Amino acid sequence: MHPEAFREALVDWFSTHQKDYPWRRTKDPWAILVSEMMLQQTQVATVLDRGYFTRWMERFPTPADLAAADESEVLSLWEGLGYYNRARNLQSATVVIRDEHHGRFPRELSTIETLPGIGRYTAAAVYSFAFDKPAPLVDANVARVIARLYHFDQRIDTAAGQKFLWDTAAELLDQQRPRDFNSALMELGQAICKPRAPRCKECPVADWCQSFQQDRDPATLPIKKPKRETVLVDEHAIWSHRDDGAVLLQHESGTRRKGLWKLPLRSVESVSHLPVIYRSTYGITHHRVSLTVYQSDSSEKPRKDESWVPATDLPTTPMASPFRKALDKLLSSC
Ligand code: SF4
Repeated sequence: MHPEAFREALVDWFSTHQKDYPWRRTKDPWAILVSEMMLQQTQVATVLDRGYFTRWMERFPTPADLAAADESEVLSLWEGLGYYNRARNLQSATVVIRDEHHGRFPRELSTIETLPGIGRYTAAAVYSFAFDKPAPLVDANVARVIARLYHFDQRIDTAAGQKFLWDTAAELLDQQRPRDFNSALMELGQAICKPRAPRCKECPVADWCQSFQQDRDPATLPIKKPKRETVLVDEHAIWSHRDDGAVLLQHESGTRRKGLWKLPLRSVESVSHLPVIYRSTYGITHHRVSLTVYQSDSSEKPRKDESWVPATDLPTTPMASPFRKALDKLLSSC
């Protein structure tokens, strides 16, 4: 490997092939942090085409705006992106920026890393993209590229595997152009070195790639622990709708969806005599959930964690997507 020539080839390719994203047009660390948090676990198309990033930045143009917001509004704006801890962590980070950094976004890597919910990758991304400072970064795209470049045929999700990836990213990093280099490496993984069908013939760094040069199948890399088996789960919910338009809803329990609402869940035994009015399936982590909604009536008594939510509040009441879809469908057929 000759890092200089490798860097040159990669950054040259990026300069003519890079995609135009709003977070690439800015050096505002806040906007870059928001984009990075949204893009964890969520496709670029969802974040961009469905307007999440734009809406968020319009409503919370600075960390101070988010720090001062009501959690319910924050979760409502995040609705549909899933993994709601990201929104809560973002808000916690803005509170720290307001209270401990006089409202100024920190400029040191070690300080950015101390913000709530900001891991090594996200801190390095903000540091290199906003301030153009050298910090290696490894996300899923970069991990795949590095594993193939070096034909690393061991697991990457072990301590040793992670060390190899981060050490290699540090060696490869272009100290003079960290922003462009890191963006280029990530884009190479997204656009060319794809998980199942890498486009090696179009790859600007094929000359340095051991998988390609040794004629090994890059699609077998990287190696990770096998995925957990899918677990099937049944959820049984009721639909109670009053004449004034209010709907009975239940607070989500557990940390993953804290602060969100859902249709009230019941045991199958207690609802099996009621008519089924809605069915759907959805995935969450390694679970495949079958949701069945039964017609109840307005005499339903709210339990401790349940409330009648007025019709006017329903659009801004934060709900996970599967329940939002059910609610919208059932309201439209009332
Ligand atoms: S040559 Fe193929 S496997 Fe190697 S980095 Fe390029 S796209 Fe990936």
